[in-house]
Amino acid sequence: AAEPPVRAPRHADVAALLPRPAAESDKYRRGVTGIAAGSARYPGAAVLAVAGALRGGAGAVRYAGPATDVVIARFPETLVSAGSPTEAGRAQAWVVGPGLGDGPRAAETVREVLALDVPVLVDADGLRLMDAERVRERTAPTVLTPHAGEAAALLGTARGEVEAARLASVRELARRYRATVLLKGSTTLVAEPDEDRPVRVNPTGTGWLATAGSGDVLSGLIGSLLAAGLAAPDAAMAGAYLHGLAGRLAAPLASALDVAEALRRVWEDVT
Ligand code: AMP
Ligand code: MG
Repeated sequence: AAEPPVRAPRHADVAALLPRPAAESDKYRRGVTGIAAGSARYPGAAVLAVAGALRGGAGAVRYAGPATDVVIARFPETLVSAGSPTEAGRAQAWVVGPGLGDGPRAAETVREVLALDVPVLVDADGLRLMDAERVRERTAPTVLTPHAGEAAALLGTARGEVEAARLASVRELARRYRATVLLKGSTTLVAEPDEDRPVRVNPTGTGWLATAGSGDVLSGLIGSLLAAGLAAPDAAMAGAYLHGLAGRLAAPLASALDVAEALRRVWEDVT
């Protein structure tokens, strides 16, 4: 069978997907995003994922993990818990992985989040710690957001092989994990678990996004769109699209937190 074509989303299509609060909304109906990220070694990843989530249109962000003090210091509006994700309370979607590190709780955190019956985004250390079978068996949607190096590790190949065959790689990962897979890089691609659906390519990327922590912001942003009720492929595509526009708006010399802050102005332009 012929492979379905690659498509780029149109601005109006992304705009139409973005959540806007109804007059009678409350924070729970707008969506609670859960963030399980950060570690004693990498507390900043938690801050950046929370920053992305706060700018993604959901009503509240819950953080579970060891970086509660740093998160609260930067974003006092976050609902924090030093416990595990299930102890932290309910969320309509969870993000797990950024800066999670290799401590004894990291693998258990990933397992716990994957067992929840809500959409889950796995990024960074979470991709290394997740069990493939547990991902495949999930009934709620899963989004994986590897860069080329992480994708290569998942496929058991070299980074160069992924870079040389990005389209085939993202399709193969989506098939293997029965997940929406967003392959990051200079041209970000989104593949869906349904192999008949076209792979989508993000037209808004910019080299200014190649800065530490910008992937963590993207994870939180997509998590927030999932919590607000977008379908997984739409959340991934819209997240990459907005993230790219924010990178352009914040350039030059934007750090990851600047990109997250620029999302507010992007949102204003798009909606
Ligand atoms: P990470 O590798 O997890 O830090 O994520 C980096 C983020 O920056 C992803 O959203 C990438 O798609 C984006 N990015 C990195 N390099 C480039 C580039 N050269 N052009 C466009 N986007 C990029
Ligand atoms: Mg990353």
